[in-house]
Amino acid sequence: MTYPTQPEASHFVNGRYLEDTAGAAMEVIYPATGEVIATLHEATPDVIEQALTGAQAAQAEWARLSGMERGRVLRRAADIMRARNRELSVLETRDTGKPLQETLVADATSGADALEYFGGLAGSLTGEHVMLPGGDWGYAIREPLGVCVGLGAWNYPTQIACWKAAPALACGNAMVFKPSETTPLSALKLAEILLEAGAPAGLFNVVQGAGDVGGPLVTDARVAKVSLTGSAATGRKVYAAAAAGMKHVTMELGGKSPLIVFDDASIEDAVSGAILGNFYSSGQVCSNGTRVFVHRSVAPKFLERLSARVANAVIGDPLDEATNFGPMVSEAQLRIVLGYIEKGVADGARLVCGGRRIDRPGAWIEPTVFADVRDDMTIAREEIFGPVLSVLEFDDEDEVIARANASEYGLSAGVYTRDLQRGHRVIGRLRAGSCFINSYNDAPVELPFGGVKASGVGRENSKAAIAHYSQLKSVYVRMGETEAPF
Ligand code: NDP
Repeated sequence: MTYPTQPEASHFVNGRYLEDTAGAAMEVIYPATGEVIATLHEATPDVIEQALTGAQAAQAEWARLSGMERGRVLRRAADIMRARNRELSVLETRDTGKPLQETLVADATSGADALEYFGGLAGSLTGEHVMLPGGDWGYAIREPLGVCVGLGAWNYPTQIACWKAAPALACGNAMVFKPSETTPLSALKLAEILLEAGAPAGLFNVVQGAGDVGGPLVTDARVAKVSLTGSAATGRKVYAAAAAGMKHVTMELGGKSPLIVFDDASIEDAVSGAILGNFYSSGQVCSNGTRVFVHRSVAPKFLERLSARVANAVIGDPLDEATNFGPMVSEAQLRIVLGYIEKGVADGARLVCGGRRIDRPGAWIEPTVFADVRDDMTIAREEIFGPVLSVLEFDDEDEVIARANASEYGLSAGVYTRDLQRGHRVIGRLRAGSCFINSYNDAPVELPFGGVKASGVGRENSKAAIAHYSQLKSVYVRMGETEAPF
């Protein structure tokens, strides 16, 4: 079945599609073929103004509802999203190039999970009550922050929009969301769905454009919080701009995460973890375990099984559900990744498989494995954000922990071992926010997600996200007389 990719208009503001052709044109490209599937316009100052004014008005109305009432809207939105999963997945595939086999189970579905989870929590969001000396007492009220801005990356457009909108709205905030200009389509669908589920017009607005649209949103005095998913470089800029206005922030940034395979691990499971942590979404996942540290004694076996299994990747039309490896999101990203591969070869890493552009229209690149990688090589230090896996060998536990931690990033870390105590001991010493033992890249909404060091600030998902979308007002109640020194 085919679904239209050209939206009714570029933006969704105040409960309706909105166009302003004065904004620069943005072409949306299906990366599997290079075909233009939609043409949108960047938000003009007038569109941004309408979105912020609308969000402010809707927030006041929304915050007056009880948590139960707000939660009901979010849970209804989750149901609509699940009912429309196939249509939303096809759109996500066309927007990002990710195989339908993935988008059917990882994008709108994880977005719906977030809407359902935070919808369920909304009714039980509370502050606290404290008894104080002399019969006095105090209470703390959990209040919304106000208007929040969400800025999204291009790898998980639906999921990112939902991971930000669901906790924000559950807490009584409104949101103005700017998707990546590379993947602007699916956030518009979330806006449609929330409206259909009963959210007031203006509660969730989508404005299109690049950093020059994100910039004014971040600095606007009406905005209380900025939540960004993007690169560490953008994170530094956005965090600094938000700090000038003393705004709350959540920064979900990049990574160069370690995946450690000990000699007692199930090699087949470890290879599965390495595939999930490097080639899912063609490697365009922030939490990927791109530095695969393998114990020297099992490295030959690991590489043999890894290359045999990578050869089984089904590369082809992403809309064919048998395909399990798609293109890069864009020609620009493909060029960045090819540049890193060239650098790896030049630095002396051994190319085990892949490494080339695939000869077909669109932004395709082979799944690539490097062996004999050293810690000081560029491919072992910098985030590549493509299907490039580096194998680094190690001899003992203390050594590998020190090497794994020697990164400016700290988003994720994984350990493969059959020794239960070692698994927990090693994870305990790794400096990362989202970790895995005998698994890789699971991100259930019930668990906090986020990084340490240059990988970010704050947490998404789980009850922890509530603290990042609300603030406490404390109230002291004196039961007796007020005493003063004079
Ligand atoms: P970018 O950092 O380039 O952009 C992120 C978003 O910020 C985009 O919407 C972008 O707009 C916008 N933006 C850029 N500059 C500014 C600015 N000065 N002010 C306001 N907004 C701005 O990231 P990518 O889209 O290239 O995504 C890839 C990166 O995202 C990777 O580094 C990856 O690790 C990270 N990421 C992190 C995740 C996490 O949860 N930790 C998850 C997924 C990805 P535009 O692009 O339209 O110019």
